[in-house]
Amino acid sequence: MKDHATDLNPRTDPPLDFVDRDFGELTPADYDALGFMCGLEVHQQLLTDGKLFCRCPAGLRSRKVDAEVLRHMRPTLSELGEYDGTALMEFKTKKEIVYQLARRSVCTYEMDDTPPFAIDEQAVKIAMEVAQLLGSNLVSELHVMRKQYLDGSIPTGFQRTAMVALAGAIPFAESELGPGRMLRIRQLSLEEDSCREISDIGHRILFRTDRLGTPLTETVTEPDLLTPLDVQAGARLLARVARASGKVRRGAGAARQDVNVSIAGGRRVEIKGVGNHRKLPELVHIEAFRQLNLLPIREELRRRGVTADMLSPDLSIDATGILKKSDFAPIQEALERGDSVRAVKLPGFGGLLTHRTQPGMVFARELGERVRVIACLTARPFMIHSDIEDYGVIGTHWQQLRKGLKAGSRSADAVVVLWGDDADVLTGVKEVVLRAQEALIGVPSETRQAFSDGTNGFERILPGPDRMYPDTDTPPVSIPDAWVTEIAAGLKERPWERQVRYVELGLTHANAWALTDAVWADLFDELAPATPDAARRLATGLQKRVAQQRSMPGFKLPTADRLAPLVRALERSGPIRHAFESMLLSQLRNPNQSAEDLLFVYGDTAGADADMRTSIQRTVATKLEVRTRDPEAIMRWAMGRVMPSLLGRIEPLVVYDRLARALGLVAEEATP
Ligand SMILES: [Zn+2]
Repeated sequence: MKDHATDLNPRTDPPLDFVDRDFGELTPADYDALGFMCGLEVHQQLLTDGKLFCRCPAGLRSRKVDAEVLRHMRPTLSELGEYDGTALMEFKTKKEIVYQLARRSVCTYEMDDTPPFAIDEQAVKIAMEVAQLLGSNLVSELHVMRKQYLDGSIPTGFQRTAMVALAGAIPFAESELGPGRMLRIRQLSLEEDSCREISDIGHRILFRTDRLGTPLTETVTEPDLLTPLDVQAGARLLARVARASGKVRRGAGAARQDVNVSIAGGRRVEIKGVGNHRKLPELVHIEAFRQLNLLPIREELRRRGVTADMLSPDLSIDATGILKKSDFAPIQEALERGDSVRAVKLPGFGGLLTHRTQPGMVFARELGERVRVIACLTARPFMIHSDIEDYGVIGTHWQQLRKGLKAGSRSADAVVVLWGDDADVLTGVKEVVLRAQEALIGVPSETRQAFSDGTNGFERILPGPDRMYPDTDTPPVSIPDAWVTEIAAGLKERPWERQVRYVELGLTHANAWALTDAVWADLFDELAPATPDAARRLATGLQKRVAQQRSMPGFKLPTADRLAPLVRALERSGPIRHAFESMLLSQLRNPNQSAEDLLFVYGDTAGADADMRTSIQRTVATKLEVRTRDPEAIMRWAMGRVMPSLLGRIEPLVVYDRLARALGLVAEEATP
């Protein structure tokens, strides 16, 4: 396995006595003590008509499948003449890959039968726009590179990618580490999306190709995120900046992030494909402690004098003979199926396999995952080990296995037993040994997958630096100066600039921040409320009522023309402004209702005083209905009865005052 110095956390002093605690129990200072560092890679689909390197439509989701293509992967030498570690790993899994094709969303380019078309201009321009919003420096020429992608999710075995911009920075006001922080952007690339995985069972993996080739930006940050909550805030901020362009896809699967996490003494570990920002903090917290928990294992192995060359697949035996009389059902069933059972010795690992790594997981899981992913063992369970002696096979059998393996006592050497298909078990034994060897370096470079409970599992070995090489099928594309000027001229306001503008209009910081990302932000701007009160009421009204109505079938945002009379009424003082939310809701529910009609109905002040008197008298008469003596509760109940018919006609404060007096809840002389 290659070891990349750049992947090491800059700090080499892990706080080994730091107690493993749950997310939410640590302060930013604790994460600082841990040396926690995280960077993000955000993948955001762009709202283009077509795909990046062919003329198929983007954004179509196929349910119908017209054809299937079966592929086998084999590793080829990279142009530098080396095998990539990831490539070899994928080859070891011996997967059969099936692509499901739908005629309208895929052509021969995606299936590697036609060379790429020219890069999609619309996508390039959107990527340039997002890069400018991120304050990055645009490249003058696009060079398409191939990024090896050997999990089968791209039929060509590589992804075409082009760097668009470098070295940016954006204000990171949402950081929990206080004001004045910046989030640095390392680079932004334009890439083609991979296939959607439909299933992955045993040696067969199924992909659908509709998403393949969709243009997306990959934004990579520097490791500036120093607490789990900052990881979440950073991801949200990047998503917001991209959305500010108005030209990116929204909704499930349109944005996915990978996180790169390390702690002092650890090494960069990439966790792939997190679709949900809410899950990020716990996920990276748990990964930080997984790394911290792996380090004492390294220390103990060093103390015991274990070295990599002491570990070998040769230290394994066929355990069929010993275990054929075992009454442990999974092994019995495996032998009945004709599967093989092997035991491997891990010298010096006694007692370490039950060392905690993640909530509900121990070190043995790290071995088991390698075996499951790479050797594709599918039986449940497929592995037992000697650190849990009373599970699986009986003591006598363990003793016989130890004897056969020339293993020492239980506290000295560990024994791992695997069962499954012959060839898979041999692969599995090798993987157990490889992962055990990696325990000697502490935290191996890996790509891991996020689980829904916040824990994570092995996905693949982190690819080496030789994973990128130039694409010989596409000439460099120079970016015309005219494009840069055109994009700069039409550049949307950055979210933090927009927030400042809204705060100046009279909104709170929080409401202003929420509004910058709302789909009705442009509508708000068009309506241009002229007073702070009108701005606040309009922002709150849209936030509450649009959010409530937009899931309704056929819902469309009203135009500024339709809403303008209501907003103009808001700007005038008078009771009508209290009816704004109700009028807005009516308009959203019934687009045919004119604002003028609503203003007439709600603003009809004729007879309002008389209506108020009648309504108050009636309410006082039925006061006995309330069983409480709490004056506030009584007033809430009474206002709820009187106010609806007076909304927009009389100031609520006036009604409240009269009502309180009528109910005898305020001394007469207290009110002027
Ligand atoms: Zn195509």
